[in-house]
Amino acid sequence: MIKYLKIVLPLLVLISCSNEADTVTEEDAKQFLADIQESAETEGPVIYSASWISSNFITYDSQVVMADFSKRYTLKGLEDARIASTYDDLELDPKDRRALSIIKNGFVMPPPLDEELAGELSGITTELEAMYGTGSHCFSDNDCYDLEGFEAIIDNSRDPDELLKAWSGWREIGKPMKDKYLRMVDIGNQGAQDLGFEGLSDLWFSKYDMPVSEFSESVDRVYEDLKPLYEGLQCHVRAELNEFYGDEVVPNEGSIPAHVLGNMWAQSWANVYDLVYQEESTGKSIDLTKVINDRGLTEVEMVEIAEDFFLSLGFEPLEDTFWERSLFVKPVDRNVVCHASAWDINPKTQDLRIKMCIEKNAEDFVTIHHELGHIFYYQAYADQPSVFQSGANDGFHEAVGDLLSLSITPNYLEKIGFVTKEEADLAKDNSIAFLMKQALDGVVPTPWTLMLDKWRMAVFNGDLTEDEMNNYWWELREKYQGVKSPIERPADAFDPGAKYHIPGNTPYTRYYLARVLQYQFHESLCEDIGFEGPLHECSIYDNEIAGEKLRAMLSLGQSEPWQDALESIIGTRELSGTAMLNYYAPLKEWLDEKNRDRSCGW
Ligand SMILES: [Zn+2]
Repeated sequence: MIKYLKIVLPLLVLISCSNEADTVTEEDAKQFLADIQESAETEGPVIYSASWISSNFITYDSQVVMADFSKRYTLKGLEDARIASTYDDLELDPKDRRALSIIKNGFVMPPPLDEELAGELSGITTELEAMYGTGSHCFSDNDCYDLEGFEAIIDNSRDPDELLKAWSGWREIGKPMKDKYLRMVDIGNQGAQDLGFEGLSDLWFSKYDMPVSEFSESVDRVYEDLKPLYEGLQCHVRAELNEFYGDEVVPNEGSIPAHVLGNMWAQSWANVYDLVYQEESTGKSIDLTKVINDRGLTEVEMVEIAEDFFLSLGFEPLEDTFWERSLFVKPVDRNVVCHASAWDINPKTQDLRIKMCIEKNAEDFVTIHHELGHIFYYQAYADQPSVFQSGANDGFHEAVGDLLSLSITPNYLEKIGFVTKEEADLAKDNSIAFLMKQALDGVVPTPWTLMLDKWRMAVFNGDLTEDEMNNYWWELREKYQGVKSPIERPADAFDPGAKYHIPGNTPYTRYYLARVLQYQFHESLCEDIGFEGPLHECSIYDNEIAGEKLRAMLSLGQSEPWQDALESIIGTRELSGTAMLNYYAPLKEWLDEKNRDRSCGW
């Protein structure tokens, strides 16, 4: 949950490209980067202010202003990307080379040079977004649902017929997207080639500081590491759902039908927790929501407690402007975008803000820690040039927020006086309940976050015929997630369209990276501070050693390859699933016991 407003700022000088490519010099490149920096400093904060207003005061005028800013800066960003690519053949200082390639890589669906095609692309992307945003389906005149309506059923209902109806109903919205989506990919590939990439796949995956094939191999290797844990989880959940729903709905073998997992995309199974785990009578989980309410905490006090977490690690206190300008409480008199986000309005003055309609409950308490993870990342890299003011790769920002969430342990809650030692001990006795909850929300998404871009890559590369596209989607879901479509899909189905990030063109591998990295950071920091005991009980709260390491890594921003940033904090350069396995080791042991007489796998 971060507002990614990567706006590449305009240049005052217009350079016409292509045929001048052989005349550019290193001096030109340096001047270009200096101009980018200057615009970022002078104009960046104004754009972010406009964007802040458009999210915090949703009115006709604020939307007009923002639409105008967006359009102009998209065009300018594209121009900058093209100028950056004219320096491709120059020998440059590595930092400058890195800065230029980041500028080139600022687009997910770049318009081609051909103006007519560029206009068509812009039309299609807007249309696809709108088709998703306004998507709804009617079974009859008085029986219509939008996503919210369908999700209310999928998340809560236990009636298989109702679930199936909602599940397939929402997938109707994908069908009309197919032709538009394919046309968009065609034009986008052209745009990527105009920027000097082989195509969209190359543009999307070449930013990971390693050859695309190597990157792809390394994420696959991590999945192989995690597979035994995921398989154990899938096996147990399948067996419990089979018991609840019977063989007709959930056979006790193979992949699990996607409509009974409590989530529209079966990407988190937290909503079926009560079906798959019965809490033991020993031990008692902490009811954090109750603690927050019993203590009469205000929304601002909840944020102050989260800030204290970071101060305990040695970060600088947030400026007064953070407290004055952030949005913490849903306003009663106007419309705002409530989706939690963290904003880097002006790095120079440390004008950082969060925007969140805080509810006084455990979930939001965790989310506040997550959002402040972004905020303190901004604080740490504020001295970097604007081009490098970003996460080491696109997974890092989310991983840092989630890293802190892992430290909200019973011991931490005891330290800040939320619970007594006795209550903390009782909670620790109930670790399987805690880990099961965490896993349904934290382990379950990993194969899903991996397969989504695998499908997209195949489409970008033109590896699939139109007829194969939907089937390949389900092939991957079965292969990676052990989840299948509950019914035969019709020939005209385009089920990927029913997930926002496909029509919305949001890269998804970042969520996979974040999931994996979060545990790697956690394990390594816990080792550094000499924590002994199960990893899920470790909190880095109040530890300067952990804080120093974390700050050093965050302060690099995007100035170094992410492997260097990773090495600076955990000592190795490799993505690995081992830390996640170690974190869930007690759960894995419990699952193995439960699954002993079951036949697992799919
Ligand atoms: Zn976030």
